[in-house]
Amino acid sequence: MDYKYDISIIVPLFNEKESLPELVAWIKEVLQREGRSYEIIMVDDGSTDGSWEKIRELAASDSTIRGISFRRNYGKSAALYEGFAAAEGRVVVTMDADLQDSPEEVPELYRMVVEDGWDVVSGWKQHRQDNKLTKNLPSKLYNWTARKVTGIKLHDMNCGLKAYKSEVVKNIEVYGEMHRYIPYLAKNAGFGKITEKPVHHQKRKYGVSKFGIERFVNGFLDLMSLWFLSKFGKKPMHFFGTSGILMFLVGFVMTVWIIAAKLVHQSQGVRYRAVTDQPLFYLALLTIILGVLFFLAGFIGEMISRSSSARNEYNIKETI
Ligand code: UDP
Ligand code: MG
Repeated sequence: MDYKYDISIIVPLFNEKESLPELVAWIKEVLQREGRSYEIIMVDDGSTDGSWEKIRELAASDSTIRGISFRRNYGKSAALYEGFAAAEGRVVVTMDADLQDSPEEVPELYRMVVEDGWDVVSGWKQHRQDNKLTKNLPSKLYNWTARKVTGIKLHDMNCGLKAYKSEVVKNIEVYGEMHRYIPYLAKNAGFGKITEKPVHHQKRKYGVSKFGIERFVNGFLDLMSLWFLSKFGKKPMHFFGTSGILMFLVGFVMTVWIIAAKLVHQSQGVRYRAVTDQPLFYLALLTIILGVLFFLAGFIGEMISRSSSARNEYNIKETI
């Protein structure tokens, strides 16, 4: 496979006008020093502060800068998606625009992909320069959960600074807010050689953070969705059916118990509470109904996955 450049740097940005000239100058300095061919793809995610005008200005005198401008703000995932589609380099590096990620890391990230053969090298903000309470602490918990669920041993899954083999970004589809889980998307697409590299992290110099505390709730929900999709996306009945059978069985055993107890008491001539007077009756009713609902969800899931155009889409590595 022929690539146009050694490295494609993709920078998703939303209202980061002040940082752009410094960022571009810094990237260029590092890559020219290394003697690598490169392109810088700036994806303006609907900025309203004049970031796009700044990019136009920078690109006018510099052929290594390319730009994509969204008509409105779609989110970081959308920006990365378009950047990945446009990238023509052998190694694709993503980097935040706010100067928190250091371009000095790029040469080593590049080397780890090309020489050591990693599919994905994720940055690890070991000494994170963000607010301790709202970002650093929740982030630790979030990353622990992500490690358990995805089975990928990364300390900082959502680091903006990452390097990929070109093949990886051409074979995954980032959507919604799934930019937090690109290593998981890569793993699910069959790119399992994933590692991390501690990277420098600076305080935000200009502008403000675009993500608040809600990222952890949304991030957790997205993690659940991805986990479900990767495990049962193509066979939803295996998930819902199993849960349905379990629920139904529990309800069934309770029902048998209720009826048997009633009959035994009746045959002994003992006065006994009405069946509808017992908590167990309602529990049995509930679990049986839930069991049936799970089955229904399973059937509907099967119908949806059957009509999906991706139902027989596989990532083929090679054919001879
Ligand atoms: N970003 C984006 N679209 C958005 C929100 C953010 O392209 O809707 C970009 C943002 O400009 C920055 C990167 O994503 O380049 C990371 O955002 P931020 O620095 O706000 O995140 P934090 O460092 O606070 O986690
Ligand atoms: Mg930032």
